[in-house]
Amino acid sequence: MEDDKSAQSPAAARLAEIRTRIAAAAAEAGRDPAAVHIVAVTKTFGEADILPVLAAGHRHFGENRVQEAKAKWPALRAQYPAVELHLVGPLQSNKTRDAVALFDAIHSIDRPKIARAVAEETARQGRRLLLFVQVNTGEEPQKAGVAPREAHALVRHCREELKLDIAGLMCIPPLNEEPAVHFAFLAKLAREMGLAHLSMGMSDDFATAVQFGATYLRIGSAIFGGRR
Ligand SMILES: *Cc1c(COP(=O)(O)O)cnc(C)c1O
Repeated sequence: MEDDKSAQSPAAARLAEIRTRIAAAAAEAGRDPAAVHIVAVTKTFGEADILPVLAAGHRHFGENRVQEAKAKWPALRAQYPAVELHLVGPLQSNKTRDAVALFDAIHSIDRPKIARAVAEETARQGRRLLLFVQVNTGEEPQKAGVAPREAHALVRHCREELKLDIAGLMCIPPLNEEPAVHFAFLAKLAREMGLAHLSMGMSDDFATAVQFGATYLRIGSAIFGGRR
């Protein structure tokens, strides 16, 4: 799958190194590293940055804005049709049609209105997406995500009323708190709901997230460098 290592770009080399660290963290936790997916978050980065990572064989990518993804990814996908694109940022209901058409996964379902819009669009377009409910585990007023005490009810609403298959939960821990506490909490919530997937862990805390059961890591700057 990978091209010649000697021709590797810095980003592809950093990704390979991250993969090694994930394998070590998984081994330490007694987990299969193949169960841990890296979503390479490409927001603010352009084709020149992304193409070498595609050429190195990576296929899971993430964006946090629908409009930016729409401007960037159709051309890249024409060259690499097996790309799986993840929306990791918030979704507004008026962008749902575009989002469902473009993305293979949405990590940010956090209220009934968005869940309903996604249910309607996936049915209308005949699409099946990997869906996550985002939980605001730190209960930060400025942050997206359903409040922890309302998470069960939202997942139940998706499953029972909307017939929307939820694959897992997602969180972004507060900046100045120990992420392990939030990862452990999200894992516990997912267990209670019988959800298999956990979208958690970013550039600074992905090894910890693996320890607590992450199946999708969302990693940007550790692969592509600082964002402008
Ligand atoms: C940008 C972003 C990431 C990646 O952040 P890094 O710290 O650069 O790894 C992960 N998740 C979401 C929701 C993001 O917006």
